[in-house]
Amino acid sequence: MAASINQSTVINNIEFAQKALEIHDIISVLHFSRLADTLANTEGQLDCRLQGGKDANNAPYIRLLVQGALSLICQRCLQPFEHEISIDTHFILVRNESDMPAPEDESDEEDYLLIQAEMPVLELIEDELLLALPIAPKHEEGECGNENNTGDYKKPNPFAKLELLKSKK
Ligand SMILES: [Zn+2]
Repeated sequence: MAASINQSTVINNIEFAQKALEIHDIISVLHFSRLADTLANTEGQLDCRLQGGKDANNAPYIRLLVQGALSLICQRCLQPFEHEISIDTHFILVRNESDMPAPEDESDEEDYLLIQAEMPVLELIEDELLLALPIAPKHEEGECGNENNTGDYKKPNPFAKLELLKSKK
């Protein structure tokens, strides 16, 4: 099954896992309103896929895959740049929060979700995107100023103004 995802899409996540369902859609970045503040612009699209299933221990899970790019502002040169997004998160479905391991025991590859009859899909994707964003987005080392000819930009000489003051005397 392949259905599309919009703001009102909800899934019964345990049924989704048990029936090994799948949804896939190309979602415009502008649908993620909580992301907007951190983005240089809301252009572009993300390839989003949700797959249900059961793992080797027969535990129901949901796997979320997101591929694409977001435009972020570099904190070093203040120019926009494309930040590549590649999310592959495996959520184990649990009945109660007490079934989740303590944060210190959690492995990096696994996350947990509570079983929900109406889980908003777009919200889950947006939560994961927010987690995937760097706290201080920056170009790769040495990549700053390579776009839009900002390489010509020279830092103002802090002594230039001083010289000017001196010469006025
Ligand atoms: Zn930069």
